[in-house]
Amino acid sequence: MTRKYFPIFISIVLILLSSLSIFGLILQSTNTLDTNVAITLREQPGTNQASIGQIEPGEEFSTLESQNGWLYIETIQQETGWIPEWQLNNLNITDDQSIAGQAITNAVLFAENSVSSIALETIPEASYFPINYESDGWAQIEFSGRVGFVRSSQIKILSRDEVPEEELEKQQVSRESEQSEPEEETTVNENTVIMRQSNQAFLEEPDLNSTILYTPDMYEEFQFISSTENDHGEFYLVANRNGNRGYIESRVVSFATDSLNHVSDTGVTSMSDAVIVIDAGHGGSDPGAVSQDENTYEKNVTLSTSIFLQEYLEAMGATVIQVRSSDTDVSLAERAQISNDNEADAFISLHYDAGYDPTYSGTTTYYYHQDDYDLAQTVNNHLEGLPLESLGVMYGNFQVTRENNRPALLLELGYMSNQNDLSYIRSEEYQRAVAEAIANGIREHIEQ
Ligand SMILES: [Zn+2]
Repeated sequence: MTRKYFPIFISIVLILLSSLSIFGLILQSTNTLDTNVAITLREQPGTNQASIGQIEPGEEFSTLESQNGWLYIETIQQETGWIPEWQLNNLNITDDQSIAGQAITNAVLFAENSVSSIALETIPEASYFPINYESDGWAQIEFSGRVGFVRSSQIKILSRDEVPEEELEKQQVSRESEQSEPEEETTVNENTVIMRQSNQAFLEEPDLNSTILYTPDMYEEFQFISSTENDHGEFYLVANRNGNRGYIESRVVSFATDSLNHVSDTGVTSMSDAVIVIDAGHGGSDPGAVSQDENTYEKNVTLSTSIFLQEYLEAMGATVIQVRSSDTDVSLAERAQISNDNEADAFISLHYDAGYDPTYSGTTTYYYHQDDYDLAQTVNNHLEGLPLESLGVMYGNFQVTRENNRPALLLELGYMSNQNDLSYIRSEEYQRAVAEAIANGIREHIEQ
């Protein structure tokens, strides 16, 4: 645009703007406040917003705009501001502060005033709760001892006087305990569980044969409600973001809080500075998998493999700590603890697999913490050189890796239930090859 047309352009804009404001005036509607009490006029649409005046009963006003349950009005004194429409519709509400809500449907309690925030829980239809404030289509409420947000469209706003006192009390956050023990600032919700595998089922019942409601996305988050165990395994009853409830297998999910203390980068870049904890699976009263001919126990082959692994790692300069160096019982909690206490730069749990199908064959690299995926990938690359096929890197919910704050893997190094795999597993040559591959993988990860 050149300069000489500028005034013409401005004039057109001005004409358009003035015609719009005339239109605006025509669209206005005039009301009379027919409540028994005055209504607070606020600067913005929210009960937590600044009060700028009052509309008295019988006073006239024009509505300029309506938005999320709030009206932008102009008084006859030409004052403008926002009033809650829901207060006009409920004559029992005497002010916009001592208000409560009742869910008119099963409503989701969100951590923030956004549907993309974490869903804390589902508020059952007809439940009552105190409202701290209502703003722009969201109410901040207290429900079962926690503070969260619910969409105003899913609730009926009431005066607190309309709700039985005990109904509100049981939802309220205890102010005293809040003051004496201030909650630690954390962005991770303790009840959030995360889907860690693809193609898993969101089930109607805690039963793999029950109706599949849908297939959750990888890393989809749920609110944990309860757990249940039966012949099919362990299941969590959870609510998804939309508040729908269903069951998922516990082995395919993790709790968001599990990785809070997990260290993925220990800062060590040389094997001579590295501390490696080797966990020979099973032991003592726990034989692990047993071969069909009952001649080979998993606890014995993991122990012999662990000794070979120690040799390779020490030859590279690493300091090695064995969880067990003989046929003894060590609890799963202790195994993870040994890694945490020694601030391991890597924790490697050695296992040999068993399956009901004798054709199952190969090795699997399991990791739990997302941050350990790179270590898993690197070690698995080296396992690919073994005579048994690598089945790849998989997420696995095992206690020794889950409760490990240090880089941790659990390796299944072949199937004892497969005759061909077993002949390898029994041989020193294979166990040494496995140990060397793992050591090379750890070294590559640490020195990269
Ligand atoms: Zn095992």
